[in-house]
Amino acid sequence: MSILIVAEHRDGQLEETTLEAISKGREVSRAAKTQLKTVLLGRDLSTTATELASYPLDEVLVIEDDRLEHYTPEGYSGALSLLLGEEDFSIVITGHTATGYEFLPRVAADLKKPIVTDTLSIEMTGSTVLATRMGYNGKVAVELAVERPDPCFLTLRPGGSKAAKRSGESAPVRAVGLDLSSVEIQREVLGYETPEVEDVDISEADIVVAAGRGIREEENLKLVEKLAGALGGVVAGSRPIIDKGWLPWSRQVGSSGKTVRPKLYIACGISGAMQHITGMKGSQTIVAINVDPTAPIFAVAHYGVVGDLFKVIPQLIKALGRG
Ligand SMILES: Cc1cc2nc3c(=O)[nH]c(=O)nc-3n(C[C@H](O)[C@H](O)[C@H](O)COP(=O)(O)OP(=O)(O)OC[C@H]3O[C@@H](n4cnc5c(N)ncnc54)[C@H](O)[C@@H]3O)c2cc1C
Repeated sequence: MSILIVAEHRDGQLEETTLEAISKGREVSRAAKTQLKTVLLGRDLSTTATELASYPLDEVLVIEDDRLEHYTPEGYSGALSLLLGEEDFSIVITGHTATGYEFLPRVAADLKKPIVTDTLSIEMTGSTVLATRMGYNGKVAVELAVERPDPCFLTLRPGGSKAAKRSGESAPVRAVGLDLSSVEIQREVLGYETPEVEDVDISEADIVVAAGRGIREEENLKLVEKLAGALGGVVAGSRPIIDKGWLPWSRQVGSSGKTVRPKLYIACGISGAMQHITGMKGSQTIVAINVDPTAPIFAVAHYGVVGDLFKVIPQLIKALGRG
């Protein structure tokens, strides 16, 4: 039985979380030797469907209807429940976004099937789906084994997987004709308001330099900012730095902050608590600077500098020709 990804888009622009779900879904489908499909809901979707078909998928299903012109939880959940009444899937995945965790639990409840939300990893062995998510407010990683009730629903944490790349091929696109007359839309969408961007999005940055409690004083953040500036990166922080109000919440890395996967992550004076590691362990290259050689951050770092950040960072800035 195939795996289904529910694509999310805004005005036909695919969301990054959908590409992440495709990459995770592809991993699972390869291991389980099954097909990976996506479903796209909306109106006038031919361009979006063609774009979606360029990712590594076995098929793109398209459901077009006036009722789906704008995203509504009733429209998405109603259409998906009808689709799942006609076609069988082993698991159904979407992003753990404001919309994803609104419509998917409705479908699961409608069909009386289990759902695991905010998952970090998904595996499928035989008839069991293994999903990992954080529990107890980010204190423990919980692995849940769901005996596959076909389908098992999952929402995937944004930023937790790499985005899929185009395959260079084109997957078949199939229009699914569903009668949505029974789907009652209970709200009227007047339009979208895009919020003003107040700060940089650390989850989009290629280089992140993060400050931890080891910087001791707010004043010392300048040193970390200088290193980030020399590298063309952005400054982030561990939770104590945000709790002290030295950086806004939008810069917090970790289980109660953001998940980042930059090309380079430099942890300055960060011990490496599990709640922090969760948010940065997917970074391509991790460099840790810490005076304590036993600090847990060194277990995930590719390069470790055991030393005083107040000596190491100025030397790095100098080596970059900015000292
Ligand atoms: C529910 C919950 C959610 C949480 N969510 C998050 C989260 O999202 N993100 C997060 O980061 N934390 C989170 N935490 C907090 C987390 O448990 C840790 O307390 C926190 O990550 C520690 O931050 P730190 O590493 O900066 O500080 P510390 O653990 O105090 O580490 C400071 C480090 O700096 C080193 N150091 C000191 N001086 C120097 C120096 N001169 N040069 C170099 N190194 C030096 C020390 O050796 C030490 O390793 C959460 C906790 C809970 C309970």
